[in-house]
Amino acid sequence: MSQKNPYEIAVEQLERAAEIIDLDKDIVERLKRPDRVLIVSIPVRMDDGSLKVFVGYRSQHNNALGPYKGGVRYHPNVTLEEVMALSMWMTWKCAVAGLPYGGGKGGVVVDPKKLSRGELERLSRGYFAAIARIIGPDIDIPAPDVYTDPQTMAWFMDEYSRLYGYNVFGVVTAKPTIIGGSEGRLTSTSRGLFFVVEEAAKAIGLDLKNATVAIQGYGNVGSFTHKFLEEAGAKVIAVSDSKGAILTSPDKPLKFEEVIRVKRKTGSVINVKGVKKITNEELLELDVDILVPAALENVITEKNAPNIKAKIVAEGANGPTTPEADDILYKNGVLVLPDILANAGGVSVSYLEWVQNRMGYYWTPGEVDAKLKDIMVKAFMNVWNTAQRYNVDMRKAAYVYAINRVVEAMRWRGWI
Ligand code: GLU
Repeated sequence: MSQKNPYEIAVEQLERAAEIIDLDKDIVERLKRPDRVLIVSIPVRMDDGSLKVFVGYRSQHNNALGPYKGGVRYHPNVTLEEVMALSMWMTWKCAVAGLPYGGGKGGVVVDPKKLSRGELERLSRGYFAAIARIIGPDIDIPAPDVYTDPQTMAWFMDEYSRLYGYNVFGVVTAKPTIIGGSEGRLTSTSRGLFFVVEEAAKAIGLDLKNATVAIQGYGNVGSFTHKFLEEAGAKVIAVSDSKGAILTSPDKPLKFEEVIRVKRKTGSVINVKGVKKITNEELLELDVDILVPAALENVITEKNAPNIKAKIVAEGANGPTTPEADDILYKNGVLVLPDILANAGGVSVSYLEWVQNRMGYYWTPGEVDAKLKDIMVKAFMNVWNTAQRYNVDMRKAAYVYAINRVVEAMRWRGWI
């Protein structure tokens, strides 16, 4: 059986949720497709003098609730279908979090690890200039995603500001704080995930203190999730990155400070000393209380879902679980906190950043954290209650809740 692409999965998830609420077929047809997709060519002068032309995308799925919002990823495996799926997931994510945004997503087909800093800057400016005409603080607001960061956002914002002739801070979010970034944005996806895990643990009677954890992926989301769970007394016993995974025992849990130091110094978590090396696949099947997939799509499938032993799967990544795997996990009593809920903390603090940019007044870390917690706890409760009401898993519940909001906005606007 050939693997489904992320867009096929996103459509299937939409159809499954639509069935639960008996959503009109015409509306489903409309929601299946993004409003607009732009494909651009980005010529970049490389350091050796040669010219390389990269391909970039921006997909705008739906803006019934507000301007399109969502990150831009740099990855060699970026495809049109992936970006379309990710933009649809952003529509639902923003709706679940109660944000006044629609969904968008961008991507550039590139392995950023192979580019020099200068090449990366030229690529970033070139991409943003190429999509600038469909971007803006009231139109579509990009942010980081896989392998993009505050530096990328600074280049994007600067390029856009140069084009328009004044500082347009609100055109992207997750900027460095010195140029309009919000306090707490860097850690916000993990912080939000932590708040949701905390609520979920309460709901199922799991004590976070001494709970065991495995984290797949040690980028922005995975690494800070380690930090916050460790601070709550949980024991992170396995982590991984694209080079491999490491495992230790609950009496000697992995320390965030040490793992991040090794990761920064050597480029991978696998160089941590005194631990057992395992594979990324093995990590997913460990006997832990909480599993956090925080890397890429399609890692939990019908093949390994029966072997997953975690009580809670908290999706830091977008799209890590296939619909078939969802059914298996639900049947086995595993509580899946779906991406559009679990990792909504990132876009939520993006929203807070955008609000601060618009008013030109900035909140303290404590103020941002309190607002984020409020957003995440509300989102969790709304999804949890929807799950109880319809007697469905948390992903279906999150979809039902989100779709209802988007459809209500579309109705008022006379789109349907
Ligand atoms: N890329 C992140 C996500 O998938 C953040 C998006 C944003 O802040 O706009 O949710």
